[in-house]
Amino acid sequence: MLVIGAGVQGLTCGVVLAEAGWPVRIRTADRPRETTSAAAGAMWGPAQLRPAERVLYWVTRSHAEFTALARDEGSGVRLTAGRMAARFELGDAVPTEARLIPDLRRCTRDELPEGFVSGYRGTVPLIDMPRYLDHLVARFQGAGGELQLSPVQTLADAAAEASTVVNCTGVGARELVGDPGVHPVRGQGVVVRNPGIDEYFVELTDSGEFAAFMPHGDRVVLGGVAEAQEWKLDVRPEVSAGIRRRCAAVEPRLADAEVLDELVGLRPGRESVRVDVERYEGSRIIHNYGHGGCGVTLSWGCAFEVADLVEG
Ligand SMILES: Cc1cc2nc3c(=O)[nH]c(=O)nc-3n(C[C@H](O)[C@H](O)[C@H](O)COP(=O)(O)OP(=O)(O)OC[C@H]3O[C@@H](n4cnc5c(N)ncnc54)[C@H](O)[C@@H]3O)c2cc1C
Repeated sequence: MLVIGAGVQGLTCGVVLAEAGWPVRIRTADRPRETTSAAAGAMWGPAQLRPAERVLYWVTRSHAEFTALARDEGSGVRLTAGRMAARFELGDAVPTEARLIPDLRRCTRDELPEGFVSGYRGTVPLIDMPRYLDHLVARFQGAGGELQLSPVQTLADAAAEASTVVNCTGVGARELVGDPGVHPVRGQGVVVRNPGIDEYFVELTDSGEFAAFMPHGDRVVLGGVAEAQEWKLDVRPEVSAGIRRRCAAVEPRLADAEVLDELVGLRPGRESVRVDVERYEGSRIIHNYGHGGCGVTLSWGCAFEVADLVEG
């Protein structure tokens, strides 16, 4: 069986399939630590994507897996408390999957940073992506999987190589599948030395510029931006400066934190996530792409669904 892609989707599918006993080879154009997945913050969080019912199932299954993974210190997953807040009134109607957050409660007024009018506090899985991707690679290879740095030129090449192909190419699906519905939503992040922060913060907004920070031991990943239809992967200093300014306004200790790295990734935007089977030149192509800004959150649920589709 061939899996295309070694971001969080391809690797998680690889793990689930290899651990179920399938011989699996992953082909990837980029090393796992150079994918969009490596640039993610990342947190498991409510995902307002389509198809809504499937997304609720994927989010729920992933929550259970990440919660279990948090017991293994080497996984890069840790249950972490923090705040999700908005500059407008959020109201009492929370997304269904937010009920999975065991200690979810409204922020008191003094728990909200200046300029924010409502928010929630709760403990969620935070995922230190570079470490987590390493963990997935080790688990995949430990189950007998083979990882090859080797781009796939066409779906016909993939179908000639394997009777079952799992397509986890993220924004690359636009070209490989010829799916014009896939588009990049560019993100940029700044990694700083942790000045002592142990809680996450995420601004809830529809705006393309927001404040978010997630601590991972001695580093904190700051965000964020979401620029639709932008393919460029160069780091933009003015974008990093804006991210730092917005985060420091919420958490002043971040103002002078030493910058360790800057990251860029292209979220695979699509009107709805695609997980389905296509018959292609005698092979089955199982598509799994288009997870937008929630690919980590959905990863285990989608991988289990892919495995169900493989089983037929
Ligand atoms: C700044 C930022 C912050 C984010 N924060 C979060 C968060 O907190 N929580 C969350 O859930 N999500 C978050 N996301 C979104 C998440 O990162 C993505 O949804 C997810 O990484 C998509 O994973 P993927 O495996 O589908 O794609 P990718 O990580 O892009 O991997 C695609 C893989 O396919 C390979 N590929 C593509 N084309 C080919 C080809 N022709 N042949 C071979 N290989 C190919 C690539 O080399 C790569 O290995 C964030 C994203 C960004 C940019």
